[in-house]
Amino acid sequence: MPEDAFTLLDDRPARLAERALAAWARASAEATPDTRSCASAEEAAALLAPRLADLLARTDEFHRRLDAWIRLALRPVGSRVACAKSCGTCCRHYVCSIEPFEHLRLYAALRESDGFATALERAALNERRYVPLLEEAERAAAAEAVEETGRPEHDDLFYDGLLQRYYELRLPCPVFSAAAGTCGNHPARPASCRLYFALDDPGFCEPEKLRAGAGRGFLLELPDVVEEAIGEWSARLEGLALSDRMSDSLLRINMLDGILFPAGRESGEN
Ligand code: SF4
Ligand code: SF4
Repeated sequence: MPEDAFTLLDDRPARLAERALAAWARASAEATPDTRSCASAEEAAALLAPRLADLLARTDEFHRRLDAWIRLALRPVGSRVACAKSCGTCCRHYVCSIEPFEHLRLYAALRESDGFATALERAALNERRYVPLLEEAERAAAAEAVEETGRPEHDDLFYDGLLQRYYELRLPCPVFSAAAGTCGNHPARPASCRLYFALDDPGFCEPEKLRAGAGRGFLLELPDVVEEAIGEWSARLEGLALSDRMSDSLLRINMLDGILFPAGRESGEN
């Protein structure tokens, strides 16, 4: 069998999973109320509330399909992936690049858990530490821009440096469970966590080792067709005015809690 034909056959399950994932995201976009013309986040939340249960279920199914695709996409590196469910060093990163439907899923799971109040406290603390770093990085970029191009650069290097500095603070993600030493809400974790891997001993994921480039970590990139479909889905929720940052958005959703969840909480701490 020619090598090309073998490659084609071997990739087929991943391509099928990729198409299924994109189709699910597109169908979910169509099923999600379009909040873009809402005058406020409160109005968007009121529009969304009657369909929220469906949106959360769709997000669960999206994550299930994403996991299926990840298993197939990781086959070339297979047993070299060092990550395990009990490993939580990377849960000190500033968690961002999260879609609005994922923020809602995570928030809904947290508000029914015993860790809800702790998660909100941590989210507030994380923002208090992240925002000054962001502002400082922006001032430095602006000063440098005056000397060079006249424009501040917010490129990958800007964000890499900013996120590395935050990681070195070793603040746990709002969802992290100190007791378990790992994610406190693994089933509801966002795609950006599911797509992050290391190919070396987890010791290389420590902030100082990461800065030195000692280990091999990577973020699995979603295919364009999936990114586009997710973009369509997320656009429908723009009226909620959430950012792509976990801590920031958990706090924003909390301000809308009474509108999004009119029945109140079913369990967990007060
Ligand atoms: S990326 Fe590193 S710290 Fe995170 S789960 Fe994988 S091995 Fe552990
Ligand atoms: S959501 Fe879970 S997996 Fe992701 S960074 Fe937070 S604790 Fe870790």
